[in-house]
Amino acid sequence: MKQTKIIATMGPASSSPEMIEKLIIAGVNVFRMNFSHGTHEFHAANIATIRKIADKLSMPVAIMGDLQGPKIRVSKFENNQVTLDNNAKIILDTAYTELGNADIVGVDYKELSHDVNSGDTLLLDDGKITFTVQKVEGTKVHCLVAQGGVLKSNKGINKLGGGLTAPALTDKDLQDILFIAEQKLDYVAVSFPKEASDMVFARRKLVEAGSTAQIIAKMERTEAVFKNLDAIVQASDGVMVARGDLAVEVGEALVPGLQKKLVKTCRKMHKISIVATQMLESMIENPVATRAEVSDIANAVLDGTDAVMLSAETASGLFPLQAVETMARVCEEAEKMTDSEMNVSFMNERFANTQQTIAMSALFSAYHMKAKAIVALTRTGATARWMSRVISGVPIYAVTDSYEALRSMALYRGVYPFFMKTNSTEVHQHVREACDYLKLQHILESGDTVIATMGENIAKVGSTNTLKVVQI
Ligand code: PGA
Ligand code: MN
Repeated sequence: MKQTKIIATMGPASSSPEMIEKLIIAGVNVFRMNFSHGTHEFHAANIATIRKIADKLSMPVAIMGDLQGPKIRVSKFENNQVTLDNNAKIILDTAYTELGNADIVGVDYKELSHDVNSGDTLLLDDGKITFTVQKVEGTKVHCLVAQGGVLKSNKGINKLGGGLTAPALTDKDLQDILFIAEQKLDYVAVSFPKEASDMVFARRKLVEAGSTAQIIAKMERTEAVFKNLDAIVQASDGVMVARGDLAVEVGEALVPGLQKKLVKTCRKMHKISIVATQMLESMIENPVATRAEVSDIANAVLDGTDAVMLSAETASGLFPLQAVETMARVCEEAEKMTDSEMNVSFMNERFANTQQTIAMSALFSAYHMKAKAIVALTRTGATARWMSRVISGVPIYAVTDSYEALRSMALYRGVYPFFMKTNSTEVHQHVREACDYLKLQHILESGDTVIATMGENIAKVGSTNTLKVVQI
């Protein structure tokens, strides 16, 4: 069983119940609802289907809502696209409300003319087309087409070097947050945060709406990675290396290095990391991956990411199932190559609380006594999360009687969550039941040694304080 988790983006290519079932069996652990596309009805139907099938299969599957964020876009063109020649002139006008053409087009982001200056480079459609700003006149930004091509309606605009300052959560995002809370989604990805306060604000809005979702900061802005990285990571539960927009802002050549840095920073700060975008881009149209894509996935696994993500490959591609199968296969092989030496940098750390103390002690003991597995009884999933912050190669079986914890643990690398309710009021009996269950599943066998963690007060939430060596 692979340790690295797979996130698949939902879309027309993946929303039938049959396909959802196949994708889960092939290795999808988390489905991403991309709020840049689709109505609430579309997402609600998919959420219900995913939950029903995950239930039927008894597989822990989490759902992530990905907020659109303040992505700045051109508005619509007359024929939904224009062809722009090199050295042509075009005006971006925030006050223009008609359908656009090759001379002028509207932009929904009112501040654009304040945020750019002559000489700036604007990148459209993930950098496929570039403009040089010549002058700014009221609401009009006069541009020279530096790299032409076909520009379609609603394509994104980024400024090279960053600095477009739209607020992190739009009105649409706030509406989507209410929907996310109502649907009890497990994770929320916040797009284009610039600083920690964006994440704090998003979390406050979620909590106000009654959501307990964990929040993921999508790193896609220059300021976020170069200026405010540690503070943003600290304010979040995890980070997505959103290579699509990030590459547009900082230049593609910096992204591989930043990916390594971000994943490392997350591990150091005990946060979750996700590597995303174009991982199997060619599989949108082809049934087999390129060698470079295979290497990219393997390298993300070796970097230590919790999860790798598919976007259009599963949302609208021709081969969603093959993409997931390829990704799962590559993850599994890469994990075998992963350095089996446990990174013991935590040895010099002070532990934050009892849960972390027990989690790290369990990991250390299991690794050094070559235990077959760790069995963690957990109500909230917190112990499993602490354990999974260090890659040790020891599988972590996390037993919980909370569906919420079950789903959220689906994203943690090396954690295999399963649901179990016990009638026992005695914790050692509960451990025994969990081990018996794993034996029944042929995961453990007689003679195996495992490390179990638990709270001696079985009725109390968040009370993990005990570590036990168990002989199966
Ligand atoms: P998106 O984010 O797919 O929502 O744009 C990911 C990225 O920018 O890489
Ligand atoms: Mn993006």
